[in-house]
Amino acid sequence: MLTSSIRRVAIIGAGMAGASCAQALAQAGLAVQVFDKARGPGGRLATRRMAWMDGAGQPTETPLDHGTPGLTVQGDAFDAFIGHGQRAGWLAQWHPVLAEGSGPALQDAVFHVPVPDNPEVCRQLLSGVSTTWSCAIDQLRWTPAGWQLEAAGEAQGAPVDAVLLALPPAQAAPLLAPHRNDWARHAALAPMQPCWTLMGVAADQGAPDWTLSRPAAGPLAWVMRNDARPGRQRVPGQAHWVAHARASWSRQHLEQSPEWVQQQLQAAIAELFGHAVAWQHATVHRWRYATPQPRLTAPGESFWWDGALGLGVCGDFLGGAGVEGAWLSAQSLVAAVRGRAFGAAQAA
Ligand SMILES: Cc1cc2nc3c(=O)[nH]c(=O)nc-3n(C[C@H](O)[C@H](O)[C@H](O)COP(=O)(O)OP(=O)(O)OC[C@H]3O[C@@H](n4cnc5c(N)ncnc54)[C@H](O)[C@@H]3O)c2cc1C
Repeated sequence: MLTSSIRRVAIIGAGMAGASCAQALAQAGLAVQVFDKARGPGGRLATRRMAWMDGAGQPTETPLDHGTPGLTVQGDAFDAFIGHGQRAGWLAQWHPVLAEGSGPALQDAVFHVPVPDNPEVCRQLLSGVSTTWSCAIDQLRWTPAGWQLEAAGEAQGAPVDAVLLALPPAQAAPLLAPHRNDWARHAALAPMQPCWTLMGVAADQGAPDWTLSRPAAGPLAWVMRNDARPGRQRVPGQAHWVAHARASWSRQHLEQSPEWVQQQLQAAIAELFGHAVAWQHATVHRWRYATPQPRLTAPGESFWWDGALGLGVCGDFLGGAGVEGAWLSAQSLVAAVRGRAFGAAQAA
């Protein structure tokens, strides 16, 4: 198959990388279909709606941004994307009040926070694109009519000319293995860092006056007051907290029970605050693949594209760590799919 013949594209993964590909290719006039195993878009740009009973026994829901704390910018291209989001109103700047001892690196930090919740960026990118949720693709089958995606033995959608994988590497590897075993082996070995995340609602009384802390030692890497972020819900009497454990601590305790992890992280927060915390409700989430480890691949390999097969891969593990890396990787893959970077892409 030649790249120029590509008209129908399936994208697996609706995080920043997949949603960016989808928007760009749909705007270029291709027929795009997105599949994600989750119930909605965002991937690691995640917000949990924590369901719990309040003190009066009433069922209540608290949105907590338990994925990426915020978007930061290094390059001009991503800066332009951020500027667009701000003008459109789905990104807002957050200038947190830093806790003492959070280190000089964050002194002037500005975080760009999706509004009203983290997945909003991907929701915006996917507007008008055909999407299928709660669909874990487990096989890519090549047929004379094109690529056929499958989930639990069932065909998903019509055959397409190209498939783009926008997944964490360990999840991309089994799909790639029958078609590009070299990529699959590389993806299976790409090191990702885990993260245990605590989220919860505590009493506002006695809460510290800072809204972001980066403790220098101990299990916790980030502690943020979620309801102090732009566009977030504030409830009288409540303080909403999200705390991410360090990668090293998370790796060491990856297989511990959620109850044990919650106890440890709540104890670490009490130590950070300097007093016991009156939690109204809390829970933990284990991210097995939160962030790529500092890049080990050769420079320039920011996406994979096999024009003959019509198979491509993008994501933060190729584009450089973080949301910006995922976005950049997607932009490069899109350029290759559209034929603009055909020669460079064949080197993959
Ligand atoms: C706790 C935490 C803290 C972070 N902190 C920062 C930070 O400070 N700064 C920063 O820039 N980045 C941070 N990141 C990383 C950032 O969130 C990611 O780099 C970025 O969101 C990755 O986007 P992606 O599209 O490559 O992958 P993802 O967002 O992981 O998207 C992949 C999607 O694929 C779906 N999927 C997986 N397998 C299948 C399948 N078989 N079939 C269908 N769908 C599938 C998933 O459901 C998911 O929606 C953090 C992440 C976490 C979790």
